[in-house]
Amino acid sequence: MSARCIVPPYLLQRLAESRPEAAAWLERQLAHDDDVRLQRTLTVPAAASGESWVVHDAGHGSTLPGRVVRRPGQPASGDVAVDEAAEGVAGALALYADVYGRDSYDDAGATVVATVHYERDYDNAFWNGTQLVFGDGDGEVFGRFTAAVDVLGHELTHAVTERTAGLAYEGQSGALNESISDVFGSCLKQRLLGQDAVAGDWLIGAGLFLPGVQGRALRDMAHPGTAYDDPRLGQDPQPAHLDDYVETTDDNGGVHINSGIPNRAFQLAAVAVGGSSAEGAGRIWYAALTGGLSSRTDFAGFAAATVAAAGEHADAVEEAWRTVGVTPQSATSGAGQPPPASPERSERTVRVRRSGGFAGLVADGRVDLDADDTRGPELAQLVDRIDLREVRAGEPRPDMYVYAFDLCGDTATVPEQHLTADLRRVASLVLEG
Ligand SMILES: [Zn+2]
Repeated sequence: MSARCIVPPYLLQRLAESRPEAAAWLERQLAHDDDVRLQRTLTVPAAASGESWVVHDAGHGSTLPGRVVRRPGQPASGDVAVDEAAEGVAGALALYADVYGRDSYDDAGATVVATVHYERDYDNAFWNGTQLVFGDGDGEVFGRFTAAVDVLGHELTHAVTERTAGLAYEGQSGALNESISDVFGSCLKQRLLGQDAVAGDWLIGAGLFLPGVQGRALRDMAHPGTAYDDPRLGQDPQPAHLDDYVETTDDNGGVHINSGIPNRAFQLAAVAVGGSSAEGAGRIWYAALTGGLSSRTDFAGFAAATVAAAGEHADAVEEAWRTVGVTPQSATSGAGQPPPASPERSERTVRVRRSGGFAGLVADGRVDLDADDTRGPELAQLVDRIDLREVRAGEPRPDMYVYAFDLCGDTATVPEQHLTADLRRVASLVLEG
């Protein structure tokens, strides 16, 4: 839905002056207005509305984007998730504009749309190709996903990556996609706190865990694999070295797991380059990201691009990559791409495995239809009428869940955005039972 606004000529002129990237479009509007000499009703697309961001409220439903609740220039709403989203998005846009000269995620002033209060007990945040979405958490392990500003920076960076290198969201290129989001999320947090690379805590998602969870954060860029160790969550699975690269069919090939390797390379480079992470190593990583990489770039290829962009810091950057086991080497093809998911087959069992969310956690459940389980009859009916061959596979989206279904031997892997109502119900019954 596009916004309908009454835009007087003087406002168009001011917009043109303040937003050079939109000047051509605005000039056309002005030329047209010169004939009319009246205020006119224009249909202004969201991306050209002149607003840098808008926060919406989904009211715990799943319809996006939801009701508009805050725009730039408006005072704090009093809803903490709304205000955290507003401040985080504004801060991330300022990081990209001030340090890298980038005008929003598309470098053409697109309005960033963010929605909070998505669904109920929703333990995730994601970029769906159009907008940012944040859940409030389940209230037991996770609180709201806007509570850590690096999560806001992480999600907006997925939009930047999509519009630049377009790194394929699986295997090594997917782990790089994830890592780059952690890199600039972390740069944002340190910038807002006025910290340099040495002072930064390098934690991703600190503040998301509720009291009682044994963990500092979801990921630790300086010490991958040590962020949490909790009876409910297990242990942080991130490797810190290429020797420990995890081959898995979960999580689009472990994109939230293997990102630990390039994350640590950035942290080491940021400390070696010195100064603020955003203005030091961050500039080098940004130049690599926007320098014409192929979508299947692997760790070695990205490392080579950062070394090439590092100027006087080339040796320090190369040393950072070598420390995590990566030898910078350009023009290598995408290694480590995962085979398609293939859950164990079984005749009268329904199994659902969910992976791929921001937190990198896996939920797995199974129900034996022949056992005495109250969910059995409804599941049997659902399995009877679901034809997995009709389900769209589709491209994975950053931080959206991926579901692997095994319906009595029929298997399929389905990204969250392509779940049918029946599959959603199966997942809900099997995972929440
Ligand atoms: Zn992500």
